[in-house]
Amino acid sequence: MTTMNRLQKRVCSNCGQLCGPTQLYCPKCGFVLPDALTAEIKAEMADVDEHEHTQAQQAVNGADNADTPDSKKTTVAEVIPPTHKLASTGSQRVLAQPGTGYFHQHARLYLHHDSGRIIPVDVRTGTKILGRRGSAADGGTGDLRIVDLTDLGAVEYGVSRRHLQVTLSDDVIYAMDLGSTNGTFLNRERLTPDQPYVVRNRSVLQLGVLILRVQFA
Ligand SMILES: [Zn+2]
Repeated sequence: MTTMNRLQKRVCSNCGQLCGPTQLYCPKCGFVLPDALTAEIKAEMADVDEHEHTQAQQAVNGADNADTPDSKKTTVAEVIPPTHKLASTGSQRVLAQPGTGYFHQHARLYLHHDSGRIIPVDVRTGTKILGRRGSAADGGTGDLRIVDLTDLGAVEYGVSRRHLQVTLSDDVIYAMDLGSTNGTFLNRERLTPDQPYVVRNRSVLQLGVLILRVQFA
């Protein structure tokens, strides 16, 4: 994409941090950088694809709200009302707000563990499941959607085999607990199983007692 060429050195509108030319998100506060959004909008407006155009319009609408007080409430987990469940997002799209909730078109999702390990979660190739893959002899499913956390001590920390579903939909990352044994917490709030929640940049996920910090980059 040529849009990256537009991203010169610039300043975060949320905290004033000077950011590098290739960063999508402020390294200090985690907000998506406004001109990363602007470049995105220009690129998508030029696209004749109706779907892409709609997304660009949403980004424009969202950008208008960038300075409202509501945009500051970025660390609180949001429960998506039942009418906005993933199955219905085709007709009732969830508006992707700028700030820490917007998953940029070029962004990648990483989970940071206190050990220094960084786990990439490739949400662009489809829904992923955080859990434990296990071996065939161990009763493992071999489900390729599973992001295996065994190396992080998942068994000891109470992570279920199929613990947390992670989905990218309309520039928003959703997490849904799959009825795990020990539960999932998003920014210390316990998730109701089978309900999707918005995951933001810098969110803290806790699966059982295993803590992972979310990074969009
Ligand atoms: Zn910032």
